[in-house]
Amino acid sequence: MKKKALYAGSFDILTKGHLDIITRGAALFDELYIGLFYNVAKEGFFTIEERLSILRELTKDLANVKLVKSTEELAIDVAGRLEIKYLLRGLRDEEDYRYESNMARFNNELSGKIETVFLQSNPKYAHVSSSKMKELIYFKGNISAYVPRKVIEKLEEKQLETLSK
Ligand code: ADP
Repeated sequence: MKKKALYAGSFDILTKGHLDIITRGAALFDELYIGLFYNVAKEGFFTIEERLSILRELTKDLANVKLVKSTEELAIDVAGRLEIKYLLRGLRDEEDYRYESNMARFNNELSGKIETVFLQSNPKYAHVSSSKMKELIYFKGNISAYVPRKVIEKLEEKQLETLSK
């Protein structure tokens, strides 16, 4: 039986921290599903299509990585549908630990079987978050050290689109 994991998030500004968890997760599991979870009522920074295109491009050489979109669904339900038994999460600090361990207990209880596997963040990216990236962009800060090049390219395309409107 293949060991399959689901790494879910909104990835609204994918960072090198996310990519590090994806790469390490792909090496640990037979199949890694990246779950692009989003709320239709909430407008993000990048559109769903833009986020998918970034994820697709950055995982094209990881043969066992698959992408799945989901809206208004619990991670355990998506996992159940795809016969996935593991949820993969990244842990940056105590705050993540507190939130994630609580979620892991609920997910395990509600699903009756799901295990959550945590990977400690690479210390280089332990302070990096999507919301911090948005804040830096807003104040015209340089985010190139924290996000993959593809994200910068998409950002530049977006800024050009806005200018030409
Ligand atoms: P969302 O809030 O939409 O779920 P996040 O980006 O906050 O999306 O989180 C998705 C997962 O990625 C979580 O497990 C989170 O801990 C992890 N993660 C986010 N940023 C990093 C980072 N810099 N290093 C390691 N893991 C991270």
